[in-house]
Amino acid sequence: MAGFKTHVSVSGGIGLAYGAAGYACGFPLSTSLVAASICTLGGMLPDLDGDTGVAVREIIPLLAAAVPILMLDVFQHWGFDREGIFLSIMAIYFLIRFGIGEPFKRLTRHRGMWHSIPAAFNVGLICFLVCSYQEIEPRAFKSSAITLGFLSHLLLDELYSLEWFRAKSSSGTAFKLFSTKRMWPNFLTYGITVLLVSLILTNDQTLKRDLAAWKAGEIHINFKPDWRRFVINSSPKSETGRAPEPPTGEIQSNSPAGDGGF
Ligand SMILES: [Zn+2]
Repeated sequence: MAGFKTHVSVSGGIGLAYGAAGYACGFPLSTSLVAASICTLGGMLPDLDGDTGVAVREIIPLLAAAVPILMLDVFQHWGFDREGIFLSIMAIYFLIRFGIGEPFKRLTRHRGMWHSIPAAFNVGLICFLVCSYQEIEPRAFKSSAITLGFLSHLLLDELYSLEWFRAKSSSGTAFKLFSTKRMWPNFLTYGITVLLVSLILTNDQTLKRDLAAWKAGEIHINFKPDWRRFVINSSPKSETGRAPEPPTGEIQSNSPAGDGGF
């Protein structure tokens, strides 16, 4: 079984590569570094169901600090002043720090449905909701990062369950779509997926606005990385990763990434 440090190292390495690719595609350095960190965090998350407690001790405080900070755009959209934001951060910190760990431990068992592919997508959807009111590109970039990190953990668990062409008993318990042992965790996991997708599709005004702009051709996403960005100081982006509006009000051109393509 891969240890906690191995998981963090692998998801950290993948996160760095992912962040570098995002930067080459035109995201600001800060957004790329945040995505790399989120990917690293995603690689720790599956072991929240562990019995040892080491991972839980590390992950819960980190989540308690990271989630309210990612929600700053939400607080601002809700019109909270500085004091309101401070109180919200404190409330979410204490809720996650002291209100989630124990119930989560009771609800899950090691290598249950929390160690599964749908759980990886669920954490991505939760991250997408947490980052509400940000523009669609950095939101999707960060949400995909946590899913990627989570999936890297599952794959590593599966690799460690192989031994000289022989599968150990733990083989197939991590990178899976459903549990064959108990049915209710399957219903719960996929039920959460349906709930999260419904929440995003029905209440997400920012997503509707950005998708409409995308359909209208006002946003051009270019997934082709421009690695010259690491050596050439290309034109600046807005803080959220979208290219600045053209001064004449024209729709931005479909130029290569790094020159306004994202
Ligand atoms: Zn694991």
